[in-house]
Amino acid sequence: MPSCIIIGAGLAGLTAARELTRHQWQVTLLDKGRGVGGRMATRRIHNTRADHGAQYFSARTPEFQAQVQAMKEAGVVKEWYLPGIDHHPRYVGSSGMSAIPKYLAEGLDIHTGEKVVHVAGDATGCTVRTEAGTVYTAEKLIVTIPAPQVKALLTDSGIQLSTTEQVALDTINYQPCLAVIAELNQPSRIPAPGGIRYEEGPISWVADNFQKGITYDSTTVTIHASPQYSREHLEGDLNKVGEMLIAELHEWIPAEAVESFQVHRWRYSLCDQRHPEPYLQCNTPFPLLLGGDGFGMGNVEGAYQSGLQMARALVGEA
Ligand SMILES: Cc1cc2nc3c(=O)[nH]c(=O)nc-3n(C[C@H](O)[C@H](O)[C@H](O)COP(=O)(O)OP(=O)(O)OC[C@H]3O[C@@H](n4cnc5c(N)ncnc54)[C@H](O)[C@@H]3O)c2cc1C
Repeated sequence: MPSCIIIGAGLAGLTAARELTRHQWQVTLLDKGRGVGGRMATRRIHNTRADHGAQYFSARTPEFQAQVQAMKEAGVVKEWYLPGIDHHPRYVGSSGMSAIPKYLAEGLDIHTGEKVVHVAGDATGCTVRTEAGTVYTAEKLIVTIPAPQVKALLTDSGIQLSTTEQVALDTINYQPCLAVIAELNQPSRIPAPGGIRYEEGPISWVADNFQKGITYDSTTVTIHASPQYSREHLEGDLNKVGEMLIAELHEWIPAEAVESFQVHRWRYSLCDQRHPEPYLQCNTPFPLLLGGDGFGMGNVEGAYQSGLQMARALVGEA
């Protein structure tokens, strides 16, 4: 049975794992997070929830449309129509974005809380070591973590990429994003259907998670700072950032409505410069494929396509 280790259990890694497993590969997924999903993230706050990473997504390619349709039928995904933003359907997780990776993870061999710190190998296969000291081996390796983290991992492992591969990784760029999640004690005043995108100013997006339909008992709002604001305040006082961004939205979120808030620092959010191909097959001593949303289309659908294409490439080789 051919075998593969996949580093990163976000959408790209999960998709690759499902496709390889469907072709009878033995797949081990490793993720440093407490759960799966990476940037498709939903946080629980008391008895309510908020999506603080990806907010919604589209499905333009036939493969992803089929996957979304299957998830709609399973009750995991639903449509969220945002007039003024969209002319085609947008989708969200029915109980939050993290419902999607949790659904896709069912039946897979996933080890969470395992940060990979070293990779090595030769033509016969690869060896991966985690921070906790556990060692995993397989014939092939897929890495789906953001490009700057890939570069650090390979450098720490003493692996030299070719100039072309290095240039490909260097072209990939992610915007940072400071995300505020505020728990409210009354409905927000954000107009239906509960999401507003801003083209300028310190805020790029605000969403009412109650109107979005992922919370039922009380309201939370998610605020995303703009890339420029996030860059300027990334290392700043997160409490002040939260207060400032909430105050900026006083029209929709009265100060007295805010019960509590927390701020999440995303160093890598949306990928604004990508490698044009859905993955990169490296000329390393062991079989290594690099993918994720830094490759191909970017965003949620791009991560899915990257994972799918990596798996298909490996299956085609086997
Ligand atoms: C604030 C924000 C807003 C966004 N909005 C949208 C949107 O509205 N629409 C849209 O389509 N997309 C959006 N995105 C982007 C979307 O979330 C990503 O494109 C997609 O989820 C990327 O999936 P991925 O599998 O490539 O990477 P990730 O989801 O980042 O998965 C990588 C995984 O690797 C793990 N990892 C990292 N390093 C290691 C290591 N050393 N060892 C083990 N595991 C490791 C991480 O824990 C993570 O789970 C947004 C992202 C953010 C953060």
